[in-house]
Amino acid sequence: MKIYDVLILGGGASALMCAGHLKKSLHVGIVENNAKVAQKLKISGGGKCNITNVEVSSNNFDGEESLVNYALQTFSKDDLLTFLGRNGISPEIRKNRYYFCRDSSDEIINVLKHLAQHVEILLNTTVREVCKHNDLFEVKTSKGTLKTKKLVVATGGKSFKTLGATDVGLRIANDFGLSVKEFTPALVGMTVQPSQFWMKELSGLSCYVHIKVEGKLLKEEMLFAHKGMSGPCILSASLYWKKGNMAIDFLPNDTIFKLINGSKKVLSSVIPLPKRLAKALLDAIDVKDTQCKKLTKEQKEKLQAIHNYAFAPAGNFGFTKAEVSRGGVLSENLNPESLEALHVENLYFIGEVVDVTGELGGYNFQWAFSSAVVCAKDLNKEK
Ligand SMILES: Cc1cc2nc3c(=O)[nH]c(=O)nc-3n(C[C@H](O)[C@H](O)[C@H](O)COP(=O)(O)OP(=O)(O)OC[C@H]3O[C@@H](n4cnc5c(N)ncnc54)[C@H](O)[C@@H]3O)c2cc1C
Repeated sequence: MKIYDVLILGGGASALMCAGHLKKSLHVGIVENNAKVAQKLKISGGGKCNITNVEVSSNNFDGEESLVNYALQTFSKDDLLTFLGRNGISPEIRKNRYYFCRDSSDEIINVLKHLAQHVEILLNTTVREVCKHNDLFEVKTSKGTLKTKKLVVATGGKSFKTLGATDVGLRIANDFGLSVKEFTPALVGMTVQPSQFWMKELSGLSCYVHIKVEGKLLKEEMLFAHKGMSGPCILSASLYWKKGNMAIDFLPNDTIFKLINGSKKVLSSVIPLPKRLAKALLDAIDVKDTQCKKLTKEQKEKLQAIHNYAFAPAGNFGFTKAEVSRGGVLSENLNPESLEALHVENLYFIGEVVDVTGELGGYNFQWAFSSAVVCAKDLNKEK
């Protein structure tokens, strides 16, 4: 039976980047359960894939800081852009922040596939379990057993099952005695409590807000949706929210007291939000939509809630809608400088299967790529 030098489980963003950075002299295989590689890359960002962000730091991630920092230093956003540029891709910046492919995600997929040309890609092959005998890993798949000296688990998270996602990575980690945090949906819309159903009634409206959640301050658009709350700010907030309230500032660029001061208009006319939203919000904070000059001291105090509205999500829209899975293999099991398991020689974990999750805005691909390069550099070393 053939023995691989390196076998990579999963054929997504991190796997392809890792394979493309491996020495050509290594005999490398990728095992992917879909008929094609990189299915999440393909559909992400509306088919144009938000690859990275103008500002990237460990602050944009839920994960162990030193592990994230090491990966970002090893393969930074600038390194990624240089890598893409060298391969003929110059992403465009949208909203002064997000790097997107100009025409389609295929631009980056084709580059990654080209760089992994020397790699044997086994498609339509599902990984079932892994064990280790005599220094070799035995990978049991739907098409038989594969043997390898070094194994990289790049099977991603559990969200979007329709795109081939499974939690096999966590099962493998468990079987080798590594501790894991079960996956939960993240970067996902949030459902609302009956007391806040007024939000659902505004379905289709969006506004720029600031959200404070678990010590983080997020600044982006929020969308009122039929099922609850969505939009970039809520998706990022879902990454940090555990339970209880998050605080929404509906007027982050204004001060309600300055707006009403000396105004002869009714409140909903001076609040620079869509009229329907302004009225519903006043209702929700129990302030009558009256003339500004007639507001009582008590009503003025209540108005402060526009800058600090306590939103208590009921839950979220689940794995079928979540862009990523929070949780994964705990970083305490991994050497940050290689992403090799500390107690299982030659076993590596990269990408979303590791307990590092980025905010919305290209951070998850940046992590997938950075962690892949950390691992590839270690695999290339003569030991
Ligand atoms: C709709 C959507 C939009 C997104 N948009 C963005 C975006 O614009 N920017 C951003 O940064 N992030 C985005 N993400 C998140 C991003 O796609 C992931 O974080 C990233 O792909 C993770 O890379 P990975 O290599 O770890 O895992 P993946 O890219 O998910 O790759 C894992 C691979 O493993 C395969 N696999 C799983 N189980 C098995 C098994 N048992 N046997 C064989 N193969 C298996 C899967 O089929 C998959 O191909 C989006 C995600 C979704 C779902």
